[in-house]
Parts: sequence; structure tokens; C-alpha cells
Amino acid sequence: MEYSESREQATEYAQSALKKMEEKGIPANPNNFTVWFHYVTGKYPDLTRTIEILLGNNKEFTGTRNAELFQKFFAFDTEGAALNDATDKIQAELNAILKNIGAAGGNAATYGKTLETFSGDMNSGGDIKEIISKALDATHEMEKRNKALVKKFNASSMEVNQLKEDLEDMRREAMTDGLTSIPNRKLFDAELRRAAMEAMEKGHDLSLLMLDIDYFKKFNDTHGHQVGDQVLKLLAATLTSCVKGQDTAARYGGEEFSVILPNTSLEDAAHVAEGIRHRISQKKVVNKSTGQDLGQITISIGAGKFEYGEPLGQLIKRADAAMYVVKRTGKGGYEMAPLPGAPLDPPDKETEAE
Ligand code: GH3
Ligand code: MG
Ligand code: MG
Repeated sequence: MEYSESREQATEYAQSALKKMEEKGIPANPNNFTVWFHYVTGKYPDLTRTIEILLGNNKEFTGTRNAELFQKFFAFDTEGAALNDATDKIQAELNAILKNIGAAGGNAATYGKTLETFSGDMNSGGDIKEIISKALDATHEMEKRNKALVKKFNASSMEVNQLKEDLEDMRREAMTDGLTSIPNRKLFDAELRRAAMEAMEKGHDLSLLMLDIDYFKKFNDTHGHQVGDQVLKLLAATLTSCVKGQDTAARYGGEEFSVILPNTSLEDAAHVAEGIRHRISQKKVVNKSTGQDLGQITISIGAGKFEYGEPLGQLIKRADAAMYVVKRTGKGGYEMAPLPGAPLDPPDKETEAE
């Protein structure tokens, strides 16, 4: 987990978290503190909503509830432990397979030696019937052992495949947003890092869109959070349908989304933004439970192009700043961020005259 707060800001959050915990009679242990520290930062919309609902309903923060909150939002260690557990199991299965391969080798060598002894016996004029019968016994014994080994191998490989699938499921779940089922912030961060490396390696462009729903607070206030959630799902599905190939549409947080566009110039990113804007403008929002037509939603989009070597936070900020230009100058459109260092807004006359 990364923390970007200044020392003063972090102290302020810590103090207000402790104050809130004291008000609610919550023991200040590290797990509870983690939950409430993040709650006061307001950076985790799902956590904020959950706690606000609990507070709104005057729910008591019992030991069980506190533990559940921590488990639900911060149990990355549990996830890590599960991964380690699965890795250990795979390791154990592989060791068992290796041991079996060793045993199979051993069996084959013993069998070979036995056959050699028989052929020696034959050369020195032993009883042929007896020799053949012994050789047959040894062969049957070898066959039996091999069958047992094949069974063990099959069981082991089934176990390994199951563990691999479980691991894959866990990994996918950890990277998916629970509400919209599209990639979450964790995957976004990883994918942006990967795409930036690739862009530099191959000398390609990389562009980023930051999108934010317009007047969404008012929408929630008017129609309720649940209908708001439907809008988030609709937007996520629309975004996913607008991007293809190596592009990644993700929920960046709350009502903000982002699209990573590898191998895409800023002008092409603007085309994608226009496509998204257009597609959204064609969608009607309907309240699923009442069938009421709630009209349209609009989004504002900022586009930025990655400058080789720049910190990725800077690229995100630049696309975000372009998005805020749209918010200020007329929501529902898109704006391309100028390159780093260039002013975002046209310089005003006074500055120009100086
Ligand atoms: P602007 O047009 O400037 O973007 O204003 P806004 O009202 O959209 O933006 P503001 O930042 O003031 O409010 C964002 C709102 O998004 C507030 C919050 O209730 C809502 N929101 C964030 N996450 C969720 C969510 O998971 N579900 C729902 N229904 N609403 C959410
Ligand atoms: Mg916002
Ligand atoms: Mg908004």
C-alpha cells in the first residue's frame, strides 16, 4: 500500500481517526486504526460508503464488525497468505512428482539388473523354465509398480492443475472491481507500469484517458445510490465495449474511470475519447426497478500522452488536469493535455504582455 500524504496531513488523519474511534468506543488496535485512518482520508469510496451506512444506521462497532471491516477492505495479508499456501501446496506436489520420478528410475534400474542376472544365469546353463518364470514375476512386479506410479502421477497433476486454477481465480478477483467487474485500481497501476515500460522499449506512444461522471453527486442525491451504482455499471460496460485489443478500461476510484491506450498517439486518444463520449450520449439511463427514464449522463474526459521516463503519477495528473479543464469550461467533452511544462490553459493577456 502506498501513502502519499505529507507528515502533517498524515498526523491530521491519524488524529481524526483516533478521535472517531474513541467516539465510537472502538479499541485502537492496528487493524481498527488501519480501517479508520483510511476512512478519514476518504480515498476508498467503498469503505467510506460502508462505514457511512453503518454510522447512518447507528450500528454498534462491535469486535466482530471491526474485524469484518478490516478483513473486507485490508486483508491483503490474508490474500498473500492464501497465495503462499497455494504455492507451498504446488511445491509439495512437485516434490512428490520428483520423488516418484526418482522411484521410477530406481525401479527400472533394479528391473534391468534383475534381467541381467537372468541372462547371466542362462549363459551359465541354468534351468530355463525357472529363469523364465522368475523373469515373468519380475516383469509383473515392475508392471504393478508402474501402474501405481501412473496413478500417483495422474492424481498429482490433477491436484496441480486445480491449484493453478485456484491461484488464477484469486489473482483475477484481487484485480477486479467488485461493483462493475472491470479491472480495478490495482490492475490499472500494474498495467500502466507495464505499458510504460513497453512503450519505452519499443519506442511506441502511450496515451491515457481519465474520465469522470458529471454531476454525479446530484444524480445520487436525486435518484439514490443504488441507481447511481447502476450508472457506474452501465458506464463500465460501455467503456469496455469502446476499447479493444491491448487497451485497458479500469475503475480508477469512485466515479472516476481510466483507459490505458498503448501504442496510441494523443490525437488518436482524442478520437477514442470522442467515441466514448458519443457512445455514452446515446445511452438512456433507466431505473431498473421502476422503469423510469432518467435521461442521460455525461462524462468529462482528459487525455494525456506519456513522456518517456516521466513518473506515471505525473501523466495521470496531466490527464486529470485536462479533464478538469473540461469540467470548468463545459462538461461532457474531452480535452488533450499539453506536453509537460507547457501551460494547460492559454496564457492570459496580462501574462503575455509582460
Ligand atoms: P463534477 O460534475 O464536477 O464531477 O461533480 P460530481 O458531483 O460528479 O463530483 P463530486 O466529486 O462532487 O461527487 C462525486 C460523487 O460520486 C459523490 C459520490 O457519492 C459518488 N460516488 C462515488 N463512488 C460511488 C459509488 O460507488 N456509487 C455511487 N452510487 N456513487 C458513488
Ligand atoms: Mg470525481
Ligand atoms: Mg464527477
